[in-house]
Amino acid sequence: MTTFKAMVVEKTDSGTRAALADFDEANLMDGDVTVRVEYSCVNYKDGLALTGKAPVVRRFPMIAGIDVAGTVESSSHAAWKAGDKVILNGWGLGESHLGAYAEKARVKGDWLVRLPSSMSAREAMAIGTAGYTAMLSVIALERHGLTPASGPIAVTGAAGGVGSVAIALLSKLGFTVNAVTGRAAEADYLKSLGASEIVERAALTGPVKMLAKERWAGGIDAVGSTTLANLLSMTRYGGAVAACGLAGGMDLPTSVAPFILRGVCLYGIDSVMCPLPRRQEAWKRLETDLDRPKLAAMTREIGLNDLPDVAAAIVAGQVRGRVVVKIG
Ligand code: NDP
Repeated sequence: MTTFKAMVVEKTDSGTRAALADFDEANLMDGDVTVRVEYSCVNYKDGLALTGKAPVVRRFPMIAGIDVAGTVESSSHAAWKAGDKVILNGWGLGESHLGAYAEKARVKGDWLVRLPSSMSAREAMAIGTAGYTAMLSVIALERHGLTPASGPIAVTGAAGGVGSVAIALLSKLGFTVNAVTGRAAEADYLKSLGASEIVERAALTGPVKMLAKERWAGGIDAVGSTTLANLLSMTRYGGAVAACGLAGGMDLPTSVAPFILRGVCLYGIDSVMCPLPRRQEAWKRLETDLDRPKLAAMTREIGLNDLPDVAAAIVAGQVRGRVVVKIG
């Protein structure tokens, strides 16, 4: 029997429990590529899976972890061979397919993206699903036609993972970025990533007006609920908002007014089932358009043992930037 260490979520009488366990390689699920995992990371969804705060795990036992960076160990898939450096984001990993917090992952070759040549596995996981989602969001705003000349862009959930990468990307692309945060103490951090103005979270959590004073050309929203509704009502004529998160709630108490009276567009961003060509485009852009020193400054590293504590912190909105998990 060949076993390896893994962070496994089990079902219990009262809910779920996550703990480090020895996992038998023979119990890995079907797939045509086996990857030696070098790094993973902690996303909000990983926090939900590990704490059991929301039912994201749909199979038990489950190895948690939605993001992998590592090296192909063996492959029967035409596109991949032993030694290839790869990234995997989503596709149900850590939810319905055994995930990333383990020394090995067996996956479908169709799910993999090649690690950009100038990027390390650790850097790819410092980006992770959060950063790749930030990139998808920026691309959506660009496709809408927004440019730095359009006006300032608001980023909500600014000090979190999606928010931090979104700020760094937008500022490198020349946009004026307003960071919306509940953590005033992170103002210097957010400015160091490229935010020109810090907006208190409270400015977007009050009662939602159908139309408020036009403030931003666009937005990237990781929070949802009242925050997204207020952001829409404050978006300028012809602007656009990319909605990617629900850290503040799943609801959306808005009206049609921003859409039909100001022509505002709301773009939905999904990273999990996003088609491969869009992923490849996003990772190509991340290689060139994300400032690596800023990425390093927003990232800290933990081991598998630290996952339960960090999971609790991320669902409580207390993690700043990105957390990579060193594996193997
Ligand atoms: P983080 O926890 O790192 O960031 C979330 C941030 O949201 C927090 O840091 C905090 O920022 C803010 N926040 C937290 N709770 C609240 C609240 N109750 N009200 C208002 N703001 C709050 O998570 P991630 O960046 O990893 O993910 C952000 C969101 O995006 C999550 O909901 C996640 O599920 C979603 N997501 C969606 C993806 C997709 O495919 N659509 C992919 C990746 C993530 P601050 O302290 O600065 O206010």
